[in-house]
Amino acid sequence: MNNSPTVLEIDLSSIEHNLNFFRSELNPETKILAVVKASGYGSDAVLMAKALEKLKVDYFAVAYTDEGIALRNSGISTPILVLHPQLQNLETICRYNLEPNLYSRRMLEGFLKIAHDKGLDNYPVHLKFNTGLNRLGFDASDIDFVCKNLMEQSVVHVKSIFSHLVASEDEEEKEFSLAQIEKFKSICSSFTSRLGYRPIRHMSNTSGILNYPETHFDMVRLGLGLYGFTNLIEKNANLKNVLTLKTVISQIHQLKKGESVGYNRGFHAKRNIKTATLPLGHADGFFRSLGNGKTYVSIHGHKSPVIGNVCMDMIMIDVTDIPCKEGDEVIIFNSREDILQMADHADSISYEILTAWGNRVKRVLK
Ligand SMILES: *Cc1c(COP(=O)(O)O)cnc(C)c1O
Repeated sequence: MNNSPTVLEIDLSSIEHNLNFFRSELNPETKILAVVKASGYGSDAVLMAKALEKLKVDYFAVAYTDEGIALRNSGISTPILVLHPQLQNLETICRYNLEPNLYSRRMLEGFLKIAHDKGLDNYPVHLKFNTGLNRLGFDASDIDFVCKNLMEQSVVHVKSIFSHLVASEDEEEKEFSLAQIEKFKSICSSFTSRLGYRPIRHMSNTSGILNYPETHFDMVRLGLGLYGFTNLIEKNANLKNVLTLKTVISQIHQLKKGESVGYNRGFHAKRNIKTATLPLGHADGFFRSLGNGKTYVSIHGHKSPVIGNVCMDMIMIDVTDIPCKEGDEVIIFNSREDILQMADHADSISYEILTAWGNRVKRVLK
């Protein structure tokens, strides 16, 4: 019995299809790190990681420590990189066999202290270098400091060094991206020669994989692409949509011309109309900016506009010309086009639409 009227369906066969497409874009020896942060881009991190582990991805990444713990608690044994830990997380990271990104002097020193205190042996860590995003990471000028700290110790082992592209999807910033790539290459070579061994190098996210093959290095970090999205229309045809958001009609109203719908009378009927009320609202991730006709949902293949203001737990739609009844299924989105039009109308991007759905929305496998 599914008690929740609004469900996000996850199609694992599409995940496999999309992963295989990205594999076909890579050299066979290039490793794949699957990014399953933010609940697997709003889906379900554990379901995603279990499926991707079976499909033999080489690594996982999460943003925060708790996300990594949840994967370990569900039995995931693939290495997990924690992209954005804090000092106070580092002990827990070791306890759960997670691998920290050490992105600053403070983090490196903090982790080395813990590693010495605990008597760790070659504990895998990752070092992020900032090549232009100015978000997290060491500067190239920190290489000396980093190497001095890493010399003559064997408590940690640098498993990988990495950087992140600023605008991998943006052709207009190509020159900047190419400069970032050159900077990263030079960091890699001076770092590796000082360190005396060669860590895994990685730089590309989904659009980096497609737009800058020279950033594949030893491993790629694949997130959004697993869900069927890239910035390249010609590549999108090779990918399948993964997520479907569905709900049901709670109630139908017949309104007379001049009557209004919803809070503050956001919508006025210009003729006699039929409306349907749906059980999801802005608290579930249906942005308030998508009310008042900005987007549509689908019923039995017919598009129906969202009318009036989005409520916390409900939206209302115009179903005047659509044959439907209370209890009927409503598709909020089931294609890339649906998701992209929502993103467009909310002045947003696919990433934000995917990760928007709250925990009242039940995740189910298709
Ligand atoms: C989220 C993230 C990724 C994945 O990016 P996509 O564009 O979703 O493939 C890769 N690397 C880092 C550092 C990230 O934060």
